[in-house]
Amino acid sequence: MKKPVSRIWKVLLGVLAGVVLFLALALTAVPVPERTGFGPSLTELRALATSTGEPLPTEFRRIVVGEGTMPEFALVAGRLLGTRAAVYQAHQVLYGDGRSVIVDAGSDEETLKRNMPGSHLQADNYARLQEVMRRADAIVLTHEHFDHSAGIAHSPYLEEVAPRAMLTEAQLHGRDAERAGFTPEVVGRLKPLRYEGMHLLRPGVVLIRAPGHTPGTQLVYVRLADGREFLLVGDIAWHQDNILLPRMHPRLVNWLLGEDGEAMANQLRYLHELRKATPELNLVVAHDAELMAGLLQRGLVQDGLR
Ligand SMILES: [Zn+2]
Repeated sequence: MKKPVSRIWKVLLGVLAGVVLFLALALTAVPVPERTGFGPSLTELRALATSTGEPLPTEFRRIVVGEGTMPEFALVAGRLLGTRAAVYQAHQVLYGDGRSVIVDAGSDEETLKRNMPGSHLQADNYARLQEVMRRADAIVLTHEHFDHSAGIAHSPYLEEVAPRAMLTEAQLHGRDAERAGFTPEVVGRLKPLRYEGMHLLRPGVVLIRAPGHTPGTQLVYVRLADGREFLLVGDIAWHQDNILLPRMHPRLVNWLLGEDGEAMANQLRYLHELRKATPELNLVVAHDAELMAGLLQRGLVQDGLR
């Protein structure tokens, strides 16, 4: 009689140990290394951004195209309870002659609701973004997830928008692209942007390849004529604390999204050091509403597109 009972206990203890081990891994983050070889120095970025001698952009603007919430535990490993407001934004870099570069294209309502229940679209602002994209000089994405890209794939003006969209090969053909609406028909209308390392998109705007959150993730460095500098990090961080601490979201999120946690950990070290060395470099974390509120309040970013 004793043996089967003790065997059951052993099995139960084994299962419990397995669950504890799983949770210990799932709810903690891939550690951020002390040093990283990732990424160009700010000196290199500045040199490339100003290399043509052409006029630099004069304004940096943003628009909120949707809102939702994110659970704290998914934002920063080690936090458990509560939620935080999240914004879906698009950004506009404007030149004195009226040309503009759009960074991130938001999502149409149907795709947003299907993929992120509980979020809602700011319909007027989304319509405004679509109008501005029709005449933008270039449209680039921080990465291919639907909340940054579906506004192109599902644009009511795809005919006009497609020639301006400069998506990278990885963004167009990644596993997330089709989910965002990039069917073979849509992809066929877009000419892929190919580069390695860094790419000068327009004077003052440099793209930096940063696969990790998704294969097509890139950083966007912006330098304005008055010396203001921005680094759009997309979703490498979901909250500025990921960079300031630095600490990533938990492994569970890495697993669910298919992220390369090691690559992201290196990028967080890079961003942390960059920020520490140059506090005046304005980081733009795609969904961090509080961070953007601070930039708007200090007059560094203007609200609404032109
Ligand atoms: Zn996102």
